[in-house]
Amino acid sequence: MKPIEKSQQAFKEASNYFPGGVNSPVRAFKNVGGDPLFIKKGAGSHIFDIDGNEYIDYVLSWGPLILGHADPKVVSDLQAAVSNGTSYGAPTLLETELAKKIQSIVPSMEMMRMVSSGTEATMSAIRVARGVTKRDKIVKFVGNYHGHSDSLLVDAGSGVATFDINTSPGVPKSLAYDTLTSPYNDVDTIKQIFEKHGDEIACIIVEPVAGNMGVIPGTKEFLQTLRDLTKQSGSILIFDEVMSGFRAAYHGAQNLYGIKPDMTTLGKVVGGGLPVGVFGGRRDIMEQVAPSGPIYHAGTLSGNPLAMTGGISTLNQLSPELYDQMTAKVDRLAKGIADAAQAHNVPVVVHHVGTMWSYFFNQGPVNNFADVQKSDMDFFAKFFRALLENGIYTAPSEYETNFMSSKHTDAEIDQTIAAFNQAFDDALK
Ligand code: PLP
Repeated sequence: MKPIEKSQQAFKEASNYFPGGVNSPVRAFKNVGGDPLFIKKGAGSHIFDIDGNEYIDYVLSWGPLILGHADPKVVSDLQAAVSNGTSYGAPTLLETELAKKIQSIVPSMEMMRMVSSGTEATMSAIRVARGVTKRDKIVKFVGNYHGHSDSLLVDAGSGVATFDINTSPGVPKSLAYDTLTSPYNDVDTIKQIFEKHGDEIACIIVEPVAGNMGVIPGTKEFLQTLRDLTKQSGSILIFDEVMSGFRAAYHGAQNLYGIKPDMTTLGKVVGGGLPVGVFGGRRDIMEQVAPSGPIYHAGTLSGNPLAMTGGISTLNQLSPELYDQMTAKVDRLAKGIADAAQAHNVPVVVHHVGTMWSYFFNQGPVNNFADVQKSDMDFFAKFFRALLENGIYTAPSEYETNFMSSKHTDAEIDQTIAAFNQAFDDALK
C-alpha cells in the first residue's frame, strides 16, 4: 500500500467544512484509527483511492452496490435517463415500473411509497403505524439501527453504537420515552413488554436479520413471537429490510423466515447506489397515507427519475440464481476466515446470511448487542488496518456488515482469504 498522503491532506481540508471531516460518522475511521481513504473511483469489486491504491471492496457503499461499482448496464441506463432531465416533481412511468418489480420480488408490498433514504422510509413507516393505530409507543431492539430520525435513535446500532452514544442529544425526552427497547432475540422480555403495554404499542420495528451490530440473524422463534404479539395486540409489525432486503435473500428476510410483516421498509439495493427508500405493505394501511388518507407524507425528490432508473436497472439484473452464486462465495469466504483465525489461535465467530457477512473476535455465541460488546474491539481495529494494508477494504467497525457483489470472482475470494491469513500474521506481531 502506497502512503495515503493525498487522503490525509483531503481529510484535513474536509474537516474545515464537515463535522469530523465527513458526511456520515462511520466514514471517519475514528474507532479503528488512522485517516479515512478518499475514493476516486470504483469498478466492479474494486475501489481506488486518490493516492493510487486499489482495494477489493466489501463495503460496497454500505450495501447498495450488489452489482458492484459502475455496472455497465446501470451506468448506461443512467446516462440515457439523465439526458431527459433530472427531476420533474410529477408522476413518471418509472415509479410504477420500479414498484411492480419490487412487488414481484416482495409480494407483501401491496402498496408503497418511494422516498429518498432508508431513514425517511422508517420514519414515515412509524408515522403511518402511529396514525393507523392511534397509539404513540413503538418498540425497537437494542443494537438495531433504523436511521437517524428522533424516535428511532434510541439504543441504536451502527455508528450510534460505534461511538457509544445511547441516545443522541437533540432527541426530545418525550419521544425517547415513547420508544420502548428490548434485547434482540429475547422472547421473554418482549412478551413482558406486551403484557404491560400491549394496547399502547403502535408498532414493533425490527431488522429481521440485524446488520447494524455486525450480522446477527433473528431466530425464527423470536420473529414469530413478534408476529404473534403484534397480531394479538392490534399493533403493526414493521420489518426494516433497508439492509436485509435483496441482501439476506433475493426475496428478503421475510421470505427466508416465512413471516409476513404488515409493513416493510426498503433502501440500499433498491436504488442501486442512488438515493431511494421505500415504505409499504398492507393495502388497508397504506391507503391511510395522503392524499388517499389523512397521514401526511411528501417529498420534492420522492420517486426521482434517476433514482428510479438506478433501482430498475439493478433489480432487473437480479435473480435467485445470482443469489445462489453470491451466497456460495460468502460461504467459502466465511469458512476461509474461520480457518485463518483458527490457524492463528484467535477466537472468532463468523456470521453470514445470503450476501451479508461479518466476524466478531469473540468466544461466542453472539445473539444480541450485549454479546457483540464482549468482542475484542482493540484487536478488531488492528486487524482492520492490517486487512487494508493487504488490499482489502472492509467495514471499519465491529458494528457494521460486509457485503458481497455479483462482480467478486472466485479468484478474488481466494485472494481475500490469503489476505486474512496475512492480516492475522501482521496484527499478531
Ligand atoms: N434501516 C436499516 C436497517 C439500515 O441499515 C439503515 C442504514 O444503514 C437505515 C435504516 C437508514 O438508511 P439510510 O442510511 O439510507 O438513511
